[in-house]
Amino acid sequence: SDHQLVYPPHPDQMDWSTLYPAYVAQEEPQPEAAPSTTEQIPEQDLSAPVKPKKLTQDVEVADIGCGFGGLLIALAPIMPQTLVLGLEIRVSVTQFVEDRIKVLRRQNEETKAYQNVSVLRANTMKFLPNFFRQGQLSKIFICFPDPHFKARKHKQRIVSTTLNSEYAYAVRPGGIVYTITDVPDLHGWMVQHFEAHPMFERVGLEEQEGDPCVEVMRNATEEGKKVERNKGEKFVALFRRLEDPVF
Ligand code: SAM
Repeated sequence: SDHQLVYPPHPDQMDWSTLYPAYVAQEEPQPEAAPSTTEQIPEQDLSAPVKPKKLTQDVEVADIGCGFGGLLIALAPIMPQTLVLGLEIRVSVTQFVEDRIKVLRRQNEETKAYQNVSVLRANTMKFLPNFFRQGQLSKIFICFPDPHFKARKHKQRIVSTTLNSEYAYAVRPGGIVYTITDVPDLHGWMVQHFEAHPMFERVGLEEQEGDPCVEVMRNATEEGKKVERNKGEKFVALFRRLEDPVF
């Protein structure tokens, strides 16, 4: 449950270095300390917040509820200069994706492929602003989210008025939220909630179908493949983050 989740109090305190080791920035050389006049070892200030190692660039793309990581793996070579992060609440599934990425990195050591994708265990319904600064993301993917069919369970849906405000906070103006589902009612729900939100507009069909990420979203996720095997229909909707209002 959530109390076992580790999350930073603020995005600046998030240590990304273990997730993207190939992107850790070189530390600035520290000025040499003046020689001590006494032999005493200076006391460390343990109350000072630990400064995490910095990356050379920020995570820009998030896959919310990434499941077994199919989308991450497919996006890695398509956007090799971009850091992509999968967020998943289930422990064993997160571990599976972590191992999958580890193997791919090992197999591609020479080309450094797959160093740009990683996974993190998190409850995105609660802790998104702990990980991402305002406007940090250019894309969010929400692929085949749990439908929570019953009306009393709708509050558990990953798209809602409140959560859309969090997505609007994390995604920069011009950025895109991608959604796909095989559940018509959930598709309607997502469209309705994003269209009603003042910070989003729906992306037109032509632009949607011209976006290479849409093809990946339709075919690369595990859930998408399952729907394909069962000859189910897939409903796609993209939403653009609008410019911040000028007061
Ligand atoms: N996106 C993947 C795909 O298309 O194959 C997985 C889809 S699966 C139906 C939904 C996933 O969302 C599950 O793996 C579930 O554990 C995860 N999930 C549900 N609620 C979540 C939350 N609050 N935070 C993070 N992940 C969540």
